[in-house]
Amino acid sequence: MKFIFVTGGVVSSLGKGLTAAALGTLLENRGLKVALQKFDPYLNVDPGTMSPYQHGEVYVLDDGAETDLDLGHYERFTNVKLTRINNLTSGQVYQTVLNNEREGKYLGKTVQVIPHVTDEIKNRIHLLAEQSNADVVITEIGGTTGDIEGLPFLEAIREFALEVGYNNAVFLHLTYVPFIKAAGELKTKPTQQSVAKLREIGIAPHILVCRCEKPLDKELRQKISMFCNVPYEAVIEEQDVEHSIYEVPLMLQRERLDDLVCRQLHLDTPLANMTHWQEIIRKLIAPRHRVRVGVVGKYIELNDAYKSVYEAIIHGGVANDCGVELVKVDAEDIERDGTEKILKGLGGILVPGGFGERGVLGKIMAAQYARENKVPYLGLCLGMQIATIEFARNVLKLEKAHSTEFDPNTAHPVIALLDGQTKVTKKGGTMRLGAQPCQLVMGTKAAQLYGAFVVNERHRHRYEFNNAYRERFEKAGVVFSGFTPDGKLVEVIELANHPFFIASQFHPEFHSKPHQPHPLFKGFIAAAHQQIHHKPL
Ligand code: GLN
Repeated sequence: MKFIFVTGGVVSSLGKGLTAAALGTLLENRGLKVALQKFDPYLNVDPGTMSPYQHGEVYVLDDGAETDLDLGHYERFTNVKLTRINNLTSGQVYQTVLNNEREGKYLGKTVQVIPHVTDEIKNRIHLLAEQSNADVVITEIGGTTGDIEGLPFLEAIREFALEVGYNNAVFLHLTYVPFIKAAGELKTKPTQQSVAKLREIGIAPHILVCRCEKPLDKELRQKISMFCNVPYEAVIEEQDVEHSIYEVPLMLQRERLDDLVCRQLHLDTPLANMTHWQEIIRKLIAPRHRVRVGVVGKYIELNDAYKSVYEAIIHGGVANDCGVELVKVDAEDIERDGTEKILKGLGGILVPGGFGERGVLGKIMAAQYARENKVPYLGLCLGMQIATIEFARNVLKLEKAHSTEFDPNTAHPVIALLDGQTKVTKKGGTMRLGAQPCQLVMGTKAAQLYGAFVVNERHRHRYEFNNAYRERFEKAGVVFSGFTPDGKLVEVIELANHPFFIASQFHPEFHSKPHQPHPLFKGFIAAAHQQIHHKPL
């Protein structure tokens, strides 16, 4: 088994996760089985308790793990299915070590960062290697070299590489080569220093992937090669992509990154066949159709907060050969300026998941606008709860109907906690989480789009549709099109007299890939295009 370790230097947000994922795409298309994992040096046990302002989106896996959004890239760029062992935080490492210590497992020894913490980190790499049975395990270390909290992880991978042998491990370091306007030049010093920092702890990177805004010329590559002690051909350029993140695998293939890795690891495979991927890029760069879709949220200024939603919308576009212009709408702007001004002209409106009251009114207004003006609407989790509240208030005339999340004393709790949830006080990992089966009702739009009657979708929420109101909704034109197999919980609702109004309690966005666009997003974009152009795709 072979191992690739991806570290990052100079600054954060260079796209380490994307690079690791794109390398995964290339290796998979060479016929190799890959596994990907992310190590996060922060002390939270998982990102589930963190604000989107801190961390961006929380990506949910089938097994209910709440993980880093880079795992979303891994799943979208490859065919791997991830589980909770694919994301390790310092919090988890210390939790295990401290539990072991209390149980007396260290037999009287002093418990130390080396070897006890580092062993725990190495165990996780071995565990994934065993469970995945992959040819290549790619491990991304979060943070930037030089961070104090990242040191145990770097020490662990250094030891690991020594143990498995240098023919079986590759260190890939992602670095930044800034363009200094005043000098009109790309500068290599930050890269030199970040590699020096790595070498100080005993890691000599084999490959440098240099993020840059301008092409790296021969001279610069030679300079980086010499000062950083990596062969010339192992200095890889990764420029900012022009159109889409899905271009990254093709760009890295042109730079022969996958060749280099395979040579280093003595992996004899055919070249990666990327023809299907090129077709996806063609549809992204020069689509036959175009449409504008609004996403109404409250973390709109943060690109990472709705990452999977934005990506799934783009995949829905690919499925329809339709370029999507994403219009990011702040729900509070709707509250201030009204729906007409903000939402007019959009082909479709999507309300994603969310927590807390800020912006809820604006989202309700958006759902009402979509329902009344027959604009395609896709509601995800909170987006379904919002559609329910809106319908209760404005069609059923249930005054001040609400979710008990936002108004615990509402006279009409159309969205409420289940009995089992009311006593839960702990915040971490206590929601309804992960993939659960949903039975779709024959003849509904949801069943038609999925082309299936049982689907598995990922959840992350506490509140549910209140069944005491089911009949009233049905009589007024709401179709309940998906339920848990016991029939007890509502999973999908839609409107009968509307071209496309579907909302799910689950998060379909976590199951969408560019090469396997999700049916609900595919249908949503098709409907949005029809709405604007009055003709089917
Ligand atoms: N806040 C809502 C709940 O907990 C919705 C959560 C979400 O959209 N992910 O039920």
